[in-house]
Amino acid sequence: MFNIGVEWLDNINELIEKYKSIEAINHAKRLMFWDMETVMPPSGIEERSEVLSNIENYQKKMYLELKDLVDKIEENDDYSKAIKRILNKQIHYYSSLPDEINKEITKISAIAESVWKIAKNRNNFKIVEPYLEKIVDLEIKISEYLGYKKHPYDALLDNYEEDFTVDDGDKIFDYLIKETKGMIDKVKDKEFLKIQKIKNEKYKKEWMVSISNDLKNIFKIPENKFRIDESVHPFTINISPDDVRITTKYELIDFKKSLFATIHEMGHAIYLLNINKEYGCTPLYSSPSFGFDESQSRFLENFVGKSKEFTEFIYPILKKRLPFIKKYDVDEIYYYFNNIDRTPIRIDADELTYNIHIAIRYDIEKNLIEGKYKVSEIPEIWDSKMEEYLGIRPKNYREGILQDIHWYQGSFGYFPTYTLGNIIAAIIWYKIKNIKEHLINGEFDQIFEFLKNNIHIYGSLYSPKELLKRSFNEDYNPEYLIKYFKEKFI
Ligand code: MG
Repeated sequence: MFNIGVEWLDNINELIEKYKSIEAINHAKRLMFWDMETVMPPSGIEERSEVLSNIENYQKKMYLELKDLVDKIEENDDYSKAIKRILNKQIHYYSSLPDEINKEITKISAIAESVWKIAKNRNNFKIVEPYLEKIVDLEIKISEYLGYKKHPYDALLDNYEEDFTVDDGDKIFDYLIKETKGMIDKVKDKEFLKIQKIKNEKYKKEWMVSISNDLKNIFKIPENKFRIDESVHPFTINISPDDVRITTKYELIDFKKSLFATIHEMGHAIYLLNINKEYGCTPLYSSPSFGFDESQSRFLENFVGKSKEFTEFIYPILKKRLPFIKKYDVDEIYYYFNNIDRTPIRIDADELTYNIHIAIRYDIEKNLIEGKYKVSEIPEIWDSKMEEYLGIRPKNYREGILQDIHWYQGSFGYFPTYTLGNIIAAIIWYKIKNIKEHLINGEFDQIFEFLKNNIHIYGSLYSPKELLKRSFNEDYNPEYLIKYFKEKFI
């Protein structure tokens, strides 16, 4: 036993007291963001963006002012270690990046984003190319300022997934490409490959709204802490531990898009609602990484939501709410949910081919940051890799290099976390005992209890790699995901 004085506790308490002001601003920022994406009139955007960037500068100062207090924290238990780890990371980020770089990236990416929209509309990469070149140059500078041990891209990956490196990424994506390339040709049940007629069925908005409510009840999401709104790009936001909101979309045709958007966001919401309440207003009140975040939404959307068992469970509810369902049997719904298609568009991709889209983006980001690829070369690299891995060639830039907003917003290092989410979700799938029986019987309590006890409750007490090790005795092991594909489709 070591002798613990009270001083180290006083230091933590003082730090957390100060941190509460940062969290108060986070609370306000999240509410402003929610408002911006759901109900704000369009012309509100200009001043809102300026206000948000001012707040960002103010918050940066507040973080930097915490430095001396953070230095005083002794790492006596998991909690103090976590506080120190998380705040040091944020302080390092703010103190390493000069103000000019921050301003420049904010400015360029705002312009690039609007030029990207025009470029995508006109199917013309050339007009946005010079902006993307500037962004890549800045990202390279950012990686130098932030610092890295081996590869410059490591510095950017670490912003989204702590301690995730090119060494990890290369291993994962090489393996996934090798295993999934050509897998479509081996799909045994050809029904998966046929486009189902049900895709063209139209629905009334109120029908799907009822289903969203049914799902809320099925997953026992507490009514008084949760709400659902609409937005073009569905998202989840935690205003506070007792106020978690999602959005979904109702396109009035092809109902699975709405259904799975809702289930996906509910996966995020359940995670946030289950974090240890004591971590509210501390730096621990979040998931440890984007990969962990996505693991929860993808687990519920794909592994649970698109399983045969869940399809059977939800079928009577769909039949009650959507009049056209009675024309289709449960198998047809299952194949519709799991239709496999060689699509050039990432967000339309099925489970089996999705990670190929990410592998291509990972390779391009890594080599751009390393200086091995030039921006002018990447449309061709993109298209030929699509052909090599998936057997299709995008017909135009819209189907290729211009489809996603991420790079034009200055997000480099983000894409890989989608695949990490799938990898972690597959690990969970094999760690929950009797999962298929739980699904058939609609015993979601037991599934969520498992997720809560092994992931949710911890918030960001542990780094993502530590949490994987502690809860599952694993690293980002992609073998579970391949095993799952083989069992489901091959
Ligand atoms: Mg998500």
